[in-house]
Amino acid sequence: MEHEAGPTSRHAAGLFAPVATHRPGDGHALLAPVLVLNASYEPINVCAARRALVLVLKGVAMTEEENGHFLHSARVAMRLPSVIRLLEYRRIPHQSRALSRKNILLRDRNTCQYCGTVLPSSELTLDHVIPRSRGGSSTWENLVACCHPCNRRKGNQFPAEAGMKLMREPRAFNLHTSRHIMRLMGRSDDKWRKYLFY
Ligand SMILES: [Zn+2]
Repeated sequence: MEHEAGPTSRHAAGLFAPVATHRPGDGHALLAPVLVLNASYEPINVCAARRALVLVLKGVAMTEEENGHFLHSARVAMRLPSVIRLLEYRRIPHQSRALSRKNILLRDRNTCQYCGTVLPSSELTLDHVIPRSRGGSSTWENLVACCHPCNRRKGNQFPAEAGMKLMREPRAFNLHTSRHIMRLMGRSDDKWRKYLFY
């Protein structure tokens, strides 16, 4: 999905920008998360309502559930979606999830990957398995959740040099992990449940 985000988002912003100015409430509603299903009903992504609406207007997706809000333009009122479904099946590359601190902590379930301690996000840091100073990159495969004591102990060393061992090999986000995130986000939205817990 990510490859589309650029042009579509810009287009959406241009299309609806004047509306939000005189209807302040709509601005927030346009940012509400929408669950995106593949044509097969498999959940594949979460996007903002504004982008979801553009996908529906372009005929790429159809609304499966509405969120109860309307987008008012000069001539029409459109119902904002809560769940949309792509009309054509798309193969989703597993590595397309955004690389971020939050997503890495989610992948590692807030567990230090060296000592196994489970901590709140605020008490965890990200460790480059191969240190940056030695050519390690910031990728899914080279970043892990790490507690501060382990991070200090490891310093600029490879795990083996510090006598440390990873609990498991860090991997790119897989579909299972994405679903976990979508479940967390969808917890408050009853309309998402039947699609997420199938
Ligand atoms: Zn640790």
